[in-house]
Amino acid sequence: MTTTAILKLQPAPEPLAVKFFDAGGTVFHRHTCSNGPHAWDCSSPYCTSLQADCPDHGGDEPVKIGREPWKR
Ligand SMILES: [Zn+2]
Ligand SMILES: [Zn+2]
Repeated sequence: MTTTAILKLQPAPEPLAVKFFDAGGTVFHRHTCSNGPHAWDCSSPYCTSLQADCPDHGGDEPVKIGREPWKR
């Protein structure tokens, strides 16, 4: 087990691969991280702002489906 970046790299052939956060959802939206800035996709249905920094750059991790803190 090694600690790596939270965001995964899209296995896309496009030159500008966009990292994404897998929150368990099927519908992705695109955030803009202020570090870069760069885009990152995310599948959490609970996001309220698309201007959020990505978890790799100090932003909060989006809430994952099935791991909602308010359901504990
Ligand atoms: Zn999101
Ligand atoms: Zn970032």
